[in-house]
Amino acid sequence: MSEELGLLNRISEELNKDLNPDRMLRRVLNLTVVHFDASTGSIMLFDEQHRVTAFILQQEDLSRARASRIVGTVLTEGFAGWMLKKQQGDIIHDTYQDDRWIVYDNQPYDVRSVIGMPLRRRQRLVGILTLVHDEAHHFKQNNLSLLNAIAGQAAIALENAYLFRQTEQERIKLSAIINGTQDAVLVISPKNELILLNPTAEELLKVNGYDWYNQPITSLTDNKELLKFLSPDAPSTGEVTLTDGRVMWASVTKTSAQDRVTVLRDISSYKELDRMKRRFVIAFTHDLRTPLATVKGYVDLLRMDGPVTELQEEDLVGISTATHAMKSLVEDLLELSRLEQLEHLTAEVIDMQDVIQSSLIYMRPAAKSKRIELIVGEIPTGLMVEGSNVLLTRAISNFLDNAIKYTPRGGQVRLQMNQTNDQANVSVTDNGPGISAKDLPRVFEKFFRTRAEVDESVPGTGLGLSIVKTIVEHHQGEVWVESKPNEGSTFTMSLPLVIE
Ligand code: ADP
Repeated sequence: MSEELGLLNRISEELNKDLNPDRMLRRVLNLTVVHFDASTGSIMLFDEQHRVTAFILQQEDLSRARASRIVGTVLTEGFAGWMLKKQQGDIIHDTYQDDRWIVYDNQPYDVRSVIGMPLRRRQRLVGILTLVHDEAHHFKQNNLSLLNAIAGQAAIALENAYLFRQTEQERIKLSAIINGTQDAVLVISPKNELILLNPTAEELLKVNGYDWYNQPITSLTDNKELLKFLSPDAPSTGEVTLTDGRVMWASVTKTSAQDRVTVLRDISSYKELDRMKRRFVIAFTHDLRTPLATVKGYVDLLRMDGPVTELQEEDLVGISTATHAMKSLVEDLLELSRLEQLEHLTAEVIDMQDVIQSSLIYMRPAAKSKRIELIVGEIPTGLMVEGSNVLLTRAISNFLDNAIKYTPRGGQVRLQMNQTNDQANVSVTDNGPGISAKDLPRVFEKFFRTRAEVDESVPGTGLGLSIVKTIVEHHQGEVWVESKPNEGSTFTMSLPLVIE
């Protein structure tokens, strides 16, 4: 009994030494053959369709082709086939007397007695361990339980080996991706220590050759912007400018182990392209202003130069309308480009009540001339925000301008302001045509205009709401719209309050 336990212990030790399935099984086989004093033995593994995937003989490996030829017959008809069907091990005491034993061509040794045991993995038979002897009646009935225990251990170890191999393959694949990517990848532990930098990150942070593993993130860089994206309360995405001028797009995610993964992608070339595009738009639109003013001047001159016929006057009105539309487009484009280029607002603390008042002064005449009732809700006092009075007035006027422009004569436009938490919310509601659900997500896009029939009759550039959005974002605020076709729309901007 203690000898058997000793064998089991040794087998378990052998199994844990190495996670290569073939080597592992070969060592188990060697130990088992010696312990049972068998002539030799084999382990055969097969897949779910009972196709042989490995055949390990104690001394030699059969070629896969030959193994599957032999085993093909053995598995269906022979002793192995019997064990597969019965799902249990057994002993053949004398192969001459037992028709479960099939003698195949070129069998390299004489076999008179056999003991076999299935290997199970998660209830499924995955292989068979067989020991043979050249004398009949070599194996005893009580050998079966020991062989069963050995097979059990081997199957568990095999399972672990497969899992390990699978994990290892995944690991190799993943590390090839991480090491090969042009993005810098940094992984930081919950203790704020670096646990992974890929080669791009090492190059980017100029830390090649420095032993950064387990070092605090502050030892890596003193770039405050970058440290923000490596810190525990990092925003999930944003831009980082490196000391060498490169601009990176940072995105931060957390793993299930609470490690933080920061990926930095070089977007310098996109930023440069964007800058060039803006410079071009500004230069181009700026240069359009003079010829446009000239056209307008000539239209006035024509009228002054002499009496014009009714037909000619109609043409002149057409030219004036077109130049006016172009002038608005040029001005909106210039304004938007300037706003987008603006890096910092010259901010002052302003009272939102003042902003509302000046917007109303601008927009009241337009509402009046269109017979639109402009209702102003109760405007709370003392809601202070940090930013530009001029720009915020422009943004609110734009909401009002649209509401008046798109609402039919005699309609209603309501301006309101309230406070939620640390935000001032300004909203403009109209009972105009509304916006369809399909168009709603796009109204803040540049040049987007909806419903051709309305838009054709209402002049506009499709830039007004983009300007509003850009202004509000410069104030760290948000804009959104709620609308139902044929009922009306509510445009809202929410701005962070200055808390004293
Ligand atoms: P513009 O008014 O110059 O066309 P905007 O960017 O201000 O450009 O608006 C984009 C589009 O959104 C408009 O063309 C219009 O179709 C729609 N829109 C904006 N405000 C309203 C509103 N109050 N009611 C209905 N549609 C609106």
